[in-house]
Amino acid sequence: MSLYNYITYLEYLNKKLTDFFENQQEYICCQKGCSKCCRHGNYPFTEIEFEYLMFGFKKLDSAIQESIKNKIINLNEQKITSTEEYFMHECPFLINDACSLYEYRGIICRTFGLMYYRDDGSTKVPFCAFEGLNYSNVVDAQNKTISEEKYKALNCTQEPLAFNVGYKFLTNKEHETGYGVKFGDCKPLLEWLVRKFDIQ
Ligand code: SF4
Ligand code: SF4
Repeated sequence: MSLYNYITYLEYLNKKLTDFFENQQEYICCQKGCSKCCRHGNYPFTEIEFEYLMFGFKKLDSAIQESIKNKIINLNEQKITSTEEYFMHECPFLINDACSLYEYRGIICRTFGLMYYRDDGSTKVPFCAFEGLNYSNVVDAQNKTISEEKYKALNCTQEPLAFNVGYKFLTNKEHETGYGVKFGDCKPLLEWLVRKFDIQ
């Protein structure tokens, strides 16, 4: 039941995010083949998101499943010897610059690229603004904010806006109650995967 409700929630979220991306299209460069946001992260997933991701995984060709499992084993070995507090890595589901589980991807994956509000109310510009991609035409790289001067000079029809699409907000109690979803524990994707495939 919860997975069914989660899918209903995703339909609502997808529609909302599509509207936001359309609204901000003058600043958005996302396109098929751009995968920088899947190359360096720790990808928080709640239990229900992970369950849905694994639902998609089971549908993949067995050779692809095997190759993904090997990537997970390698990543886990790198994590064990890493001294980083938060182990950042390429997502093992990224294949040839595309998500092999696109339909089943997590909530964080769906919001990559938008500007959003942090818990303290400040705005967060996506990292790729500093790599010549989303919002790079209006970003003030030094202050990591939007430059009003650049925005005005561009004569854009829509102003650059942040939205309430922070991960904690999208997986909060209010959404659980509203959609009858139990998100469950939240962990980095690699932790879920190591446990799922019983990797030592
Ligand atoms: S699940 Fe897909 S979209 Fe999400 S980080 Fe991995 S490759 Fe990227
Ligand atoms: S969010 Fe940035 S890095 Fe990710 S696909 Fe969009 S433009 Fe590329």
